[in-house]
Amino acid sequence: MKVGVIGLGRMGAAMAANLLRAGHEVTVYNRSPEKAQDLVDQGARLAARVEEACAGAAVITMLADDPAVEGVVCGEHGVVAGLGAGAIHISMSTISVALSERLQGAHEAAGQRFVAAPVFGRPEAAAAAKLFVVAAGAAAALDECAPLFDAMGQRTFRIADRPPAANLVKLSGNFLIASVIESLGEAMALVGKAGIDRHQYLDILTSTLFAAPVYRTYGGLIAEEKFEPAGFAAPLGQKDIRLTLAAAESLRVPMPLASLLRDRFLTLLAQGGEALDWSAIGQLAARDSGQGDRRG
Ligand code: NAP
Repeated sequence: MKVGVIGLGRMGAAMAANLLRAGHEVTVYNRSPEKAQDLVDQGARLAARVEEACAGAAVITMLADDPAVEGVVCGEHGVVAGLGAGAIHISMSTISVALSERLQGAHEAAGQRFVAAPVFGRPEAAAAAKLFVVAAGAAAALDECAPLFDAMGQRTFRIADRPPAANLVKLSGNFLIASVIESLGEAMALVGKAGIDRHQYLDILTSTLFAAPVYRTYGGLIAEEKFEPAGFAAPLGQKDIRLTLAAAESLRVPMPLASLLRDRFLTLLAQGGEALDWSAIGQLAARDSGQGDRRG
C-alpha cells in the first residue's frame, strides 16, 4: 500500500521501518529531516513537506501531542490540504478526545476518512512489530488499514465506528499504567527503606499475583532506577494524565487518582525530570522517604 508516515520519533521511526519491511511503499516526513535518513537508507521516500507525504491511500501521524497533530493536520499545506478525496488519515498518537472529534469533522468536511488508532507498547515493542493497536473508524476504512496495522502490531482491537472512542480507551489505559507506576513506587519505597532487596521483592510480585507485563516492565525500571534514556518521556506521560482528566471533566467522571498523578508528574517535571522516562514518578516515594539515588 502507498502510505505516508509523519512523525519519526521514538515510535514513528520504528513503525515506518516495519511498514517498509512488510513491503509497503512508504513516504516519510519529519520536522527534523535528519531523523529520516535511516529510513531513506531502508527504501523510504523522503517528503520535504507534509503535503508530499499525503499522496497515497493513507497517511499515518505519530506526533508528540495535540498541538503538533493539529498544526500538522489542519495547518496551511497540512494533511487535510494534501490528502486526496476518500484517502485515510490514521492518527496513531495519543491525543485528546476533543481533538479526535475535531479531526473527524475536518476530514469529513474535506471528503476524506479518519481513523484513530493509538497504540499500547513502548519503542521496543514498536521495533519488534509487537504493538497493540486500538482502532476506531468506519468499518471499510478499518478493513483497508488492517495490512498496515498487521505490519506494526501483534493485535488490533476494533472498538467502535467513532474514532474518539479509541483515544479515550488509550488514555484510560495510560492512566492505569501511571497508577501502577505510582503504587509500585510507593510499595518499593516501603520495603526498600526496611532493607528488603527490591529485585527479590519484584520477583515475588511478578511470580505470584502480579504476573503482568506492566508490573514486570515498570517494576524493573523502578528497581534499577533506569529512567534514561526515556522510552516514553515524562512530559508525554504528564500530557496523557492531563488529557485523561480533560475527558473525565467533560464526561463528569471524578477521577481522584488521576488528579494525584497529575501532581506527581508536575513534581517530577519541576524537579528536572523533563528528559526522564515517565516511570521516574515511581522514584518520588523513595525520595520523599529520605532514600536518595541508590544507583551507586
Ligand atoms: P517523540 O520521540 O518525542 O517524537 C515526537 C515526534 O513528534 C517527533 O517526530 C517530533 O519531531 C514530532 N513533533 C513534536 N512536536 C512537533 C511539532 N510542533 N510539529 C511537528 N512535529 C512535531 O515521541 P514518541 O515517544 O515517538 O511518541 C509519539 C506519540 O506516541 C505520542 O503521542 C505518545 O504519547 C505516543 N506513544 C508513545 C509511546 C512510547 O512508549 N514512546 C507508546 C505509545 C504511544 P522532531 O523529531 O522534529 O522533534
